[in-house]
Amino acid sequence: MLELKDVRFSYPSSSEDKTAPSFCFNLTVNKGQIVVVEGRSGIGKSTLLNLVAGFLTPHQGKIYWQGQDLTPLHPSDRPLSMIFQSNNLFDHLSCRMNIALGLRPSLSLSDDEWRAVDAVMDDLGIGAIKDRKPDDVSGGQQQRVALARALIRADWQDRDLLLFDEPFSALDRETRLDCIEVVKRILASKSMAALMVSHDPEDAKRLGADVIAL
Ligand code: ADP
Ligand code: MG
Repeated sequence: MLELKDVRFSYPSSSEDKTAPSFCFNLTVNKGQIVVVEGRSGIGKSTLLNLVAGFLTPHQGKIYWQGQDLTPLHPSDRPLSMIFQSNNLFDHLSCRMNIALGLRPSLSLSDDEWRAVDAVMDDLGIGAIKDRKPDDVSGGQQQRVALARALIRADWQDRDLLLFDEPFSALDRETRLDCIEVVKRILASKSMAALMVSHDPEDAKRLGADVIAL
């Protein structure tokens, strides 16, 4: 179970802008549960995910995963896998290598691991772009490369908590529905928990997710 207890955060105010937004989050996500976070642009959805992932540090309050206090842990030590709103892909590596990085930063994967990389690419409909660089594929394909990297990492490294920041926003409806099925299957296979930002109420419905509105 993920628990945020009275987590308070505000961005530092600049000299031009004295009214920096401040936030307070309280929420729980159980193992096996998918929670979709909705809310208008600028309300704090990405801020919430970045706090859980550890890229931002709360001024007050605690974040627990399975009873363990995550708050003091470096992002890389947290048992989670995140997809950013910006895809964070490496332009000098092929799409396949970008996904492999999710498993091993050294890129020395076993045969089974390479097969898993290829399988998740095929499942997400990006099997044909394996050797292309992110710059040479569409925005929707880049988004699926980032999705594949997070999913394979969660699946193979037993990271039971996934954070998704608008993972389907660049996809057409048909591709989105296909990807939702893949995400749903992988989350269910290990009873993972997921916190997902989405604009489209249909995503939550298809995923069988609970919705919270910020
Ligand atoms: P959402 O993801 O819901 O669109 P964000 O969490 O990205 O919103 O941002 C929430 C609010 O915090 C917005 O008003 C945004 O302008 C502000 N904000 C985001 N990042 C920073 C930052 N680094 N410094 C100052 N303000 C920020
Ligand atoms: Mg955002």
